[in-house]
Amino acid sequence: MEIGFLGLGIMGKAMSMNLLKHGFKVTVWNRTLSKCDELVEHGASIAETPSAVINKCRFTIGMLSDPVAALSVSEGKGYIDMSTVDAETSSKISEAITSKGGVFLESPVSGSKKPAEDGQLVILAAGDKALYEEIIPAFDVLGKKSFYLGHVGNGAKMKLVVNMIMGSMMNAFSEGLELAGKSELDPSTLLDVLSLGAIANPMFAGKGPAMLQSNYSPAFPLKHQQKDMRLALALGDENSVSMPIAAASNEAFKKARGMGLGDLDFSAVFEAVKSRKH
Ligand code: NAP
Repeated sequence: MEIGFLGLGIMGKAMSMNLLKHGFKVTVWNRTLSKCDELVEHGASIAETPSAVINKCRFTIGMLSDPVAALSVSEGKGYIDMSTVDAETSSKISEAITSKGGVFLESPVSGSKKPAEDGQLVILAAGDKALYEEIIPAFDVLGKKSFYLGHVGNGAKMKLVVNMIMGSMMNAFSEGLELAGKSELDPSTLLDVLSLGAIANPMFAGKGPAMLQSNYSPAFPLKHQQKDMRLALALGDENSVSMPIAAASNEAFKKARGMGLGDLDFSAVFEAVKSRKH
């Protein structure tokens, strides 16, 4: 099976590498072309424009940073957008593709750099059902589970709800670490206590020790988490859902961006929490 891949950032690079390792033929494009080199060393072909990829491949996957980037490259054939965007952007991409005779599936993912490398993503697909069924062999390599959620927009919304919860949890976690430290408790003991109770989760266990070392090597860039909070809050506006916790969390991510932390991991919001005047 031949697959085109647009966008070789943290996620796209890991995902396209996985497809190559499992015997798929992959043609890649990235805005910064030099990021294709490592994939080419592992057997990928390279194309100089998104349309060259789409012309060559029956299926093309996009994994781009935000709505603007995702819209700018979408055209034609079987297009699977795995970026995190809002439902409106996804519908615009869908219209652009179907008006040219193509078929479209939105398929944002839950899971970060490591699950992408390990083929353990959770795929939230919606749109053309026949395309979903055709692309399942690739989804089986990229993820541990894929959901088909119905019409275009449902995958995007599900992803935004998940990331809104995650962003709010990261803020509560950061405030807890700060509260423990300022209360003369050892924050690493707090991590042990949390790990044994009902709110234990892989995010606290995975990110907590690094946060205590101020190590924010990016798995999920903070600027993208803030984009997802913004898009989730807009979904709340649309549906008259009041979300004061998400709104406050968004402010903390914005503050962190303002502190120049946007390219670090989203757990760097801890620095914004620590910088508050108590
Ligand atoms: P990333 O490392 O920042 O990569 C972003 C990609 O988008 C790069 O290939 C970049 O190209 C490209 N891009 C940005 N602006 C563009 C434009 N205007 N035109 C064309 N290409 C453009 O991001 P990532 O972490 O891989 O995330 C990609 C998407 O997956 C985002 O929507 C993110 O929210 C979502 N996501 C991320 C994670 C995660 O944990 N990292 C998890 C789930 C979902 P250049 O290389 O040229 O800059």
